[in-house]
Amino acid sequence: MPVNISSYQSLIGELAKTDTTLVAVSKTKPFGDILELYNLGQRDFGENYVQELVDKAAQLPNDILWHFIGHLQTNKVKLIVPFVQLIHGVDSLKLLNEINKEAAKMGKVVNCLLQIHIALEETKFGFDEAELANVLSTIKLNKWPNVNICGLMGMGSFTDDIAITKKEFKQLKSLYDSNKEFKILSMGMSGDYKMAMEAGSTMVRVGSLLFGERQKKN
Ligand SMILES: *Cc1c(COP(=O)(O)O)cnc(C)c1O
Repeated sequence: MPVNISSYQSLIGELAKTDTTLVAVSKTKPFGDILELYNLGQRDFGENYVQELVDKAAQLPNDILWHFIGHLQTNKVKLIVPFVQLIHGVDSLKLLNEINKEAAKMGKVVNCLLQIHIALEETKFGFDEAELANVLSTIKLNKWPNVNICGLMGMGSFTDDIAITKKEFKQLKSLYDSNKEFKILSMGMSGDYKMAMEAGSTMVRVGSLLFGERQKKN
């Protein structure tokens, strides 16, 4: 399936009005598709699978800003720490500890977002509100000097009910607003980015709208 250039152009026009960053989600898509958007000026790309991200980062232009948006296993952290721009889905203290440890070894500070569980589905990962408060108070103790918590990330429920999605985004935005240090709110995908923008998202993760539907996995 070809890259949808006109969708890309209208999307970046829309996002520019509110200074919202586009992460083009290129998981499962070939190098050529990424280069097509790269040649139009796109630099932020998102991937879900560690090995795929490592391969793409090694072979594509090195000024691409790679976002890891999937569920990250602790044993794979060291593979992406050397080059990743932002890890969106930090959903446990164990993972935060591991990122800090690997980043320290490499003398880096890694940008992370805490994933918040806002959806109705049990399967989606993330902290709840009480856990978030706990993580943030631990951060104040400077327990993770090699991790930079830039903000929050969330995924809405898989539903056609607009009221549910709006409510979830509003809830996430209010958690985001409760901490003055946060700078990035990553919410919104192909199907719900407009609602996410209205709710105050600063970064959307859009895949199929740009690259077409994916085969299997996700
Ligand atoms: C795949 C994925 C996206 C992009 O989804 P689309 O519906 O194709 O835009 C966004 N965020 C996460 C976490 C994803 O896994």
